[in-house]
Amino acid sequence: MPTHIATLIPGDGIGPEVVEATRRIIDATGVQITWEEASAGESVFKRGIPSGVPEETIASIAKTRTVLKGPLGTPVGFGEKSANVTLRKLFETYGNIRPVREFSGVPTPFSGRGVDLVVVRENVEDLYAGIEHMQTPGVAQCLKLISHKGCEKIVRLGFEVARAEGRKLVHCATKANIMKMTEGLMKNVFEEMAKEYPEIESHHIIIDNCAHQLVKKPEQFDVIITTNMNGDIISDLSSGLIGGLGFAPSANIGQGIAIFEAVHGSAPKYAGMDVANPTAMILSGVLLLRHLGELDAARKVENAVLATLEDGKSVTKDVAGQNAPVGTQAYADAVIANFGRQPSKFGARDYTALKMPLFTGGPVSVVAKQRATVGCDVFVEADTTPVALGDFLSTVAPKAGLKLKMISNRGTQVYPSRSGETDCVDQWRCRFMAGDAGVSVAALQTLLAEIEQGGFRWMHIEKLEQIDGAPGYTKAQGED
Ligand code: NAD
Repeated sequence: MPTHIATLIPGDGIGPEVVEATRRIIDATGVQITWEEASAGESVFKRGIPSGVPEETIASIAKTRTVLKGPLGTPVGFGEKSANVTLRKLFETYGNIRPVREFSGVPTPFSGRGVDLVVVRENVEDLYAGIEHMQTPGVAQCLKLISHKGCEKIVRLGFEVARAEGRKLVHCATKANIMKMTEGLMKNVFEEMAKEYPEIESHHIIIDNCAHQLVKKPEQFDVIITTNMNGDIISDLSSGLIGGLGFAPSANIGQGIAIFEAVHGSAPKYAGMDVANPTAMILSGVLLLRHLGELDAARKVENAVLATLEDGKSVTKDVAGQNAPVGTQAYADAVIANFGRQPSKFGARDYTALKMPLFTGGPVSVVAKQRATVGCDVFVEADTTPVALGDFLSTVAPKAGLKLKMISNRGTQVYPSRSGETDCVDQWRCRFMAGDAGVSVAALQTLLAEIEQGGFRWMHIEKLEQIDGAPGYTKAQGED
């Protein structure tokens, strides 16, 4: 039997208890794993390491490439960034797989409908790139960053998850109807890539309708691929359908690397009391076993968990209701005692190993056949009226060989005025179009100097690119 190696991070709060329960169950399957214990989170912050992740933990993960991780807390007054997000980003775990399935024995308003779906969430891009700026003292901005490469990786991972789990239907959920460039990129890549998986039915769905459909008829979904922010929300919504956080496992997938953890946090008020529900962590362990290719052991553990819950005799406090609950470790013992049993309803799926997509050597850039800079948007801070700013900029723009096309405020065109109803703030997006000469650095310098001499501040500049004959920028609301 092969021996595997994995990093074990007990984590904070209830973490050490649910991780220990999971480790005992995995070891009881007979699969040989050498666990390298490593620290992260609260104790590390308190040692004065601001990231919450020490070098020795990074070195262990870089070596083992497989991690079973308890939840990590951020103690008040320590660290600016979450140690969880740091780990996900350091190892570029671009995909977050969150399976959600009905458990017989855990009653919910959706019981009996056979909810069994997987949310495949992009895990590093989007608004979570964390690029935020105060544009003016009263206007904040967060950059929603989505790349073709990032979309390709998550879409391919989503289809590979479908293949590995014998699933026949994949939805891509985006807000492409409103954010045509960013969310639209995910939709376009999905529709293009779906052709490589002809055996799988694929559909795009608008994210708000997806949320609505998840509550109305969750059993219609199989795999949902989505962007980071959408995925954060709908995966929590989905776990609420099947009994809550105590039952929601996850895998963070990167290039030949995977971190397995429960969706829940460290629940500090239950720490050390032997009352936490370890199911989410145990099912994360099932994902780890599958990742290691130990499919029989994974099936054995999953079916034992399902049978234990179905029996209803050994359940933890969060779902015990009127019955006497068992403790975290006693629940783990009951799962081990149920090895070999099959639940009567909703058993484990027939999984094959996930073929992790490899992205070595692919081009970083998407090369356009034709490209030209046709203008620029200059974001200006000004405590003034649209007419005063517009009239001023119309006068000075020709000095830079540019023409003011329009000004928008929070996305709505206000100069030339369309309705006069917009409630303006002090940040203005001023759109200048160029002639055949394009937008030179000298022209920009002239324009910015004129703006400052007019008593206004410029905040930032976006080039307006024409890419393969199509505008690489969107119009303002009301812009013709
Ligand atoms: P939480 O998930 O820790 O707890 C919320 C509530 O859910 C708990 O009070 C408890 O009632 C219940 N709960 C959660 N897991 C449970 C389990 N296994 N068994 C029984 N009940 C359970 O969320 P929180 O209170 O917002 O966060 C606490 C800490 O955890 C914070 O420091 C937060 O930053 C951190 N956190 C870490 C992760 C992670 O490591 N991936 C995720 C979320 C939160």
